[in-house]
Amino acid sequence: MFRKIISETVRKLQHLYESMDGYEENLLQPASLLIKKLVASDNWLPCAQAQPHPQYYQQYPLYIDPHDRFSLVSFVWGPGQSTPIHNHTVWGVIGMLRGAEIEQRYRYDGFLLRPTGPTQRLMPGEISCISPDTEDIHKVSNAYTDRVSISIHLYGGNIGKIERNIYDEDTGQRKPFISGYADAPPLSL
Ligand code: FE
Repeated sequence: MFRKIISETVRKLQHLYESMDGYEENLLQPASLLIKKLVASDNWLPCAQAQPHPQYYQQYPLYIDPHDRFSLVSFVWGPGQSTPIHNHTVWGVIGMLRGAEIEQRYRYDGFLLRPTGPTQRLMPGEISCISPDTEDIHKVSNAYTDRVSISIHLYGGNIGKIERNIYDEDTGQRKPFISGYADAPPLSL
């Protein structure tokens, strides 16, 4: 099931890149439909890529484009876990597979970080998009303190290798970071 559903998604993404020259404005809408389809059913994610860690949220690679044009990742939240405030520098689509997550977006003016709007709750089957052209700074948390939540993320680059930033909410100070990926048995399509 995993191989079939991911192969089909990857094939369509490759086709999108080839037919649309990789421009974000052309990719984001059709790519978000592909992720919406992926999270419409929760019967395909291998157990190894759904394992929480007792302390840290996990980011398991499901597919990395050999040219680093895009990456598909399962994000696994243990009970009560959350990210620091961070940016991405590339576009992304987040699809909720299991459980729920809460997102707060921010705007950074070079000195201070300000929350923009209320928090958003993402429920299974729903998607959310980020883009460095608009808002790509946020903090994301598991909505639950007693269970695991999982979202499937598609990024317009190899997100585990990209240098980006984390931010201190109080001081606005930012620090570079590279997220890397969690360990799991390798997947092949
Ligand atoms: Fe993020």
